[in-house]
Amino acid sequence: MKHVRGPLCSIDVGERTAETEEIDDVLESAIGGRALGTKLAHDRIPFDADPLGADNRLYFATGPLQHSTMSFTGRMSATGVSPLTDGLLSSNAGGFLSRNFTGTGYSAVEITGASDDLVIVHVTDDGVEFEAVPELEEATVPETCEYIEDEHGLGSEHTTVIGPAGENRVRFASIMTSEERAFGRGGLGAVLGAKNVKAVTFDGDSTREVEIPPLQMEIHGEAAQAEHPMKDQGTTSVAEYANMVEALPSYYFSELTFEGIDGISGDRVEEKKYKKGTCSSCAFACKLPTRDEESGLETEGPEYETLMAFGSNSGIDDVVDLMKSNKLCDVYGLDTISAGDTVAAYLASEDEFGNADLIHDLVEKIAHREGVGDTLAEGVDRIHDDLGVENWSVKGMEFAAHDGRTLNGQGLAFATSNRGADHMYAEFYPYEYPLVDADDAFDKEGLEEKPPKLVELENINAIKDSAVICKFSRDFMTDDRFETLLDADYEELLALGGEIVTLERHFNNQRGFDRGDDTLPYEIPDFEQGLAEYYGERGWNDDGTVPDATFEGGHVAPADD
Ligand code: SF4
Repeated sequence: MKHVRGPLCSIDVGERTAETEEIDDVLESAIGGRALGTKLAHDRIPFDADPLGADNRLYFATGPLQHSTMSFTGRMSATGVSPLTDGLLSSNAGGFLSRNFTGTGYSAVEITGASDDLVIVHVTDDGVEFEAVPELEEATVPETCEYIEDEHGLGSEHTTVIGPAGENRVRFASIMTSEERAFGRGGLGAVLGAKNVKAVTFDGDSTREVEIPPLQMEIHGEAAQAEHPMKDQGTTSVAEYANMVEALPSYYFSELTFEGIDGISGDRVEEKKYKKGTCSSCAFACKLPTRDEESGLETEGPEYETLMAFGSNSGIDDVVDLMKSNKLCDVYGLDTISAGDTVAAYLASEDEFGNADLIHDLVEKIAHREGVGDTLAEGVDRIHDDLGVENWSVKGMEFAAHDGRTLNGQGLAFATSNRGADHMYAEFYPYEYPLVDADDAFDKEGLEEKPPKLVELENINAIKDSAVICKFSRDFMTDDRFETLLDADYEELLALGGEIVTLERHFNNQRGFDRGDDTLPYEIPDFEQGLAEYYGERGWNDDGTVPDATFEGGHVAPADD
């Protein structure tokens, strides 16, 4: 099986030390990215670690395909214990960082401990340096990127940065890279903030040799030639369709369609797009640099999920208002889905849907934990009682769009996901719209025959997160292509994906997670039966825990044992 190469760089920011460790035994069974981060985290983070404590660890890792220039591979993975969900979680970001990360020569970088002073950690192929930066306290993401560029000549494509939200330990703070791309879900920005790390930079010329088959060029060519709505409208191309089939959460999840969709649709976003946007080496180029000529406002996005959280779910029908919310989240370092949903919860409690000025003010207050922002910075799960609204979250994570009340398989996927109510963990929704030419498309209603498919999708997505391959490659990545690119049987890859999901589950079980956490705030037909079938497919216990016998010497036994 193809895997990333290079040692682990373990950095203790409290002790200001860095050590290099050979981890070939882990690499051989881990591909890279999320698999590598999860295996290291499972072995090295104490099961009772405080997500915002010194003993939590954060792992940055690429996969073997970042050693190529194939489309869909300009991404990398971060893993740690989430302050939002309290479970082990990986988050994935695009942009231009991944290939600069490979230049350091490391397969993964681990950040542990906690610094007394605010620091930037510089990781190069020559070693690690620590720079005290008290002057960057509360600096925004662009201000921090500008400092690093001025002082060190490193553009934002070399950086991971937190904004005030991360420093203030907002539970859904993101880590930003390439300035506007986010390791968004799960609050890993607050993990860096709790360690007093303002930024980590990556630079070097020591990329390791990993031979990638010529197939990469074929995929690259197809991505360049393809006619696809995402090339014009990114993920927002689905908005009107989702609204039409009643899968677009609106007014803090109280409705499933939005009468103001015309003001924030993919067409409106495309009107604001002023140039092509992409990630490193990706010819699919689905990103959305947007500009409002009248106000001069520029941002990247909004993506569809932001369109839901700060648009329909907040009662906003003006694309410029939406762009401003998106911009503020990027500047302060916030996950747009959790931030938007949490703001929507507040709007529901105050009967203030559609109040754009209030929304923008709330985003700033959350990032700085000012006034009511200090409460909202805790996320919906922890504050819904105070606000007097329903708890629209799973495992503490606020919901993505593609509503499970309409798309029942996606509903089950929200419940089982180890990282909570996120759409990218399994991505069941395209098979229920259907948005792809899938032979195995499903009817939206019910769960019949869906649990085995859910297991397969969770497993192959774990492989995509490990290789690292963008999920939007779904029209281009056949089973054969996975096999050729990663030099492994498809079944072998699915088994490794299953191992990663099970390792996450096992870690979270030790922290108290079980079937009682695989729940939804709404009912879907035959949910309990579907959940039981899912556990059966996984070989887990009826209570949602991993059997002790699954582990041999602390590792998941092969699937056929
Ligand atoms: S498909 Fe879009 S998000 Fe994925 S790597 Fe390419 S440009 Fe980035």
